Amino acid sequence: MLPVSSRINKIRDILAQKGIDALLVSDEKNIYYLTGFPWGFRLLIPLDGESTLFVHSVNYEAAKYAIRDAAGLRIELIRVGEKWGQKIISVIGGGGFKAVGFDRISATEYARIRDSLRSLNLECLEEAIWSLRKVKDEFELTLIRRAAELTRRGMIKAFEVIRPGLMEWEVAAEIEYEMRRLGSSGVAFDTIVCSGPESAFPHGGFGERKIEEGDLVVVDIGAKYRGYCADMTRTFIVGKPSEKQKELYDIVRRAQRLAIKHVRSGVRAKDIDEAAREYIAGRGYGEYFVHSLGHGVGLDVHEPPTIGPTSEEVLSCGNIITIEPGIYIPGFGGIRIEDTVLVLEDKATNLTEISEGEELIS
Ligand code: ZN
Ligand code: ZN
Repeated sequence: MLPVSSRINKIRDILAQKGIDALLVSDEKNIYYLTGFPWGFRLLIPLDGESTLFVHSVNYEAAKYAIRDAAGLRIELIRVGEKWGQKIISVIGGGGFKAVGFDRISATEYARIRDSLRSLNLECLEEAIWSLRKVKDEFELTLIRRAAELTRRGMIKAFEVIRPGLMEWEVAAEIEYEMRRLGSSGVAFDTIVCSGPESAFPHGGFGERKIEEGDLVVVDIGAKYRGYCADMTRTFIVGKPSEKQKELYDIVRRAQRLAIKHVRSGVRAKDIDEAAREYIAGRGYGEYFVHSLGHGVGLDVHEPPTIGPTSEEVLSCGNIITIEPGIYIPGFGGIRIEDTVLVLEDKATNLTEISEGEELIS
């Protein structure tokens, strides 16, 4: 059972602390996090009393079913053709609130609420919600571990199938089929299988290249399990690696291991980034490491905390982050190695580890 009531209580603590009377939640993932229902439209949590989950007619029956046991949560139906903006404003207006927080809102909706309820203070509380979502509870960790295991299995499949003559999309299909077959509820992001010179594009190529002998192949994948994501990258060398490929692979591998060793509660995210960045720069490839070292993972595949040079974050127990150094040389190719890790008191647990014997370099 999703621990939503304890999450809503934490939201109320934040509201009380900040002197805000209610929170209007618009982000779908935040609504899911706070209610257990994935298709909510808006959620209004007052400091005291019942919360209101706004749902469109199309999701009404599913909402009733999903939150049948949730105490203190009522459903407000938005009928087909009904003006939802007015409905939300009238519920907020009826609450007699002086200050209402929001997570993420369009400029149009912000202006509409402000113009209709002129004495209302609107305050952004997006960061406060992230402060909860960044620290995963036991329930979430179970789901993320499962997503990570499905992702590992997808990567092992990639290792089995990659060979010269195969199209990138065929490899992607095999990986996604494997993850789906084992219970994944979808992919956390579009599968990246990127070979040859195009592997130098960190976000992937076009998926239409035929894999050739001697290629570097970057495979960046993530399974999803009950809303939660995992994220993992391995780089394969097809056939016998060249000296240069071996050198680059070794640098990225060592940088990644070094960074993971730095991960623990209380450490600054930018110090972890710096450890990997300095190592790669020391080996002469600093200018080719063109992205941050990592990011948080949860209901979103990219979420706080960011692990980068300008990050102000300090890690704490229960954070789930990626560690993904890379070197990308235009015209030559790229290498990235990425794992999803759990931050603990004095170390990290790697959730997408592949044991030494299965080392994914072909
Ligand atoms: Zn990734
Ligand atoms: Zn990533």
